[in-house]
Amino acid sequence: MNGGSAAAGKCSDVLILGGGSGGYACALRAAQLGLSVTLVEADKLGGTCLHRGCIPTKALLRAAEVADTTRNARSFGVSATYDGIDLAAVYAYRETVVKRLYQGLRGLLTRDSITVVTGTGQLTNELTVTVDGLRYAGNSVVLATGSRPRVPAGIALGSRIVTSDQALDLDAVPQSAIVLGGGVIGIEFASLWASFGADVTIVEALPRILAAEDPWSSKQVTKALRARGITVRTDARVAAATEDGEGVRVTFADGEIRTADVLLVAVGRAPRIDGLSEVGIGIENGCVATDERLRTTTAGVYAVGDLVAGPQLAHRGFQHGMFVADEIAGNAPVPIPDDLIPRVVYSHPEVASVGLTENAARDRYSNATVLVYDLAGNGKSQILRTGGGVKVVRAGDSGPVVGVHLVGDRVGESIGEAQLSVAWEALPEEIAAFVHAHPSQNEALGEAMLALAGRPLHTHR
Ligand code: NAD
Repeated sequence: MNGGSAAAGKCSDVLILGGGSGGYACALRAAQLGLSVTLVEADKLGGTCLHRGCIPTKALLRAAEVADTTRNARSFGVSATYDGIDLAAVYAYRETVVKRLYQGLRGLLTRDSITVVTGTGQLTNELTVTVDGLRYAGNSVVLATGSRPRVPAGIALGSRIVTSDQALDLDAVPQSAIVLGGGVIGIEFASLWASFGADVTIVEALPRILAAEDPWSSKQVTKALRARGITVRTDARVAAATEDGEGVRVTFADGEIRTADVLLVAVGRAPRIDGLSEVGIGIENGCVATDERLRTTTAGVYAVGDLVAGPQLAHRGFQHGMFVADEIAGNAPVPIPDDLIPRVVYSHPEVASVGLTENAARDRYSNATVLVYDLAGNGKSQILRTGGGVKVVRAGDSGPVVGVHLVGDRVGESIGEAQLSVAWEALPEEIAAFVHAHPSQNEALGEAMLALAGRPLHTHR
């Protein structure tokens, strides 16, 4: 329950455990608000997002897009020969991106005079963290230790049975891969490896992939991935998996056996809550229990990001971190509900959404009006040669926009407009009054709003 014989370090206004998206955003905002800040980080500042998640994977997906573009160059009238993937060079490109952002982040923390302690911290009592025998105290403590990949019982990781952590550093592109889990990580890696030339099978236990998304989005993306040659198996479970020098051997629950070069385990991420319940922090379903102001069950201790039940997204972590800094500073910030946090899956095609699914809107408002606009009618999408569509959900038959769902290459870039529409509770009639740039993919949103407002231009009523 306490730090024992640990020597006393310093006491700060805000003591943060974990320097990922949630922790460092909290540190920066707290320092900007004039509070003294100590940030404890076991590994590298920037955490999963910068070093093992968002940034490196999106760099790989950009390389995948270049590979696809090169392969298809002739269909645009451009002579180019696709010669395969030089993985070392792809990793070098990825590292230039990560390194530059990492350098920038360290610079920001230095600029704001934040004390960074490198080492594994352990909460030892309510407001004290011990790192390598030194005790640090805070008037407030923020838990921001993030999450780690879950591995189902009965599956042992190895050099070929990997999580996203190891999948980022494979020394060769797999010729074949089985992806266990059709969630965000599974779909992004499946898309990446298929673009790099691998034969990919996705195995999902539920009836559809990306099960948190609107069923329309799941259906669209399943169709598009299958058209790319990716096998999508739903309602399928893996009973066992083993590896040897040659590859992996995966046994399905129905007895079928499949082999591949690599098995990616992408069945979710578990919050890092080690040692917290021992010092009295309330835990619920494996997450740190918090109220809507991100207060844990212990006074003065907050939790942010993946530790808190809800979508495990870096930008939610940033938002939580800033919120808690403002809360500690007494600024009474407004909590952002999870359904107003935008979601983007960076596969080919992309899937993006904000707000409620059609079913959730029907539950909440007893009725909903839905409009689907096909990207076949969108000039920019035709230029890009992407299929997909836009689905807009309005509350009742005359209420505001409460959900937007997008599928298609690059549609993630349109999520900003969708987010403003939902968060501002805009009426389709109000958005329809704005002129959308032509040709742009945003125009598809404009067309959907025009149609919902009863004034479709390029579609029939
Ligand atoms: P997830 O929860 O998104 O998906 C896991 C999937 O695995 C689920 O569909 C689940 O039904 C399936 N599953 C679980 N056990 C299974 C089993 N035994 N057999 C077959 N299927 C099984 O988790 P994830 O994809 O691992 O991602 C973890 C977190 O990281 C998510 O919260 C995600 O939002 C976040 N993330 C976000 C992004 C992004 O925003 N672009 C990218 C990567 C990760």
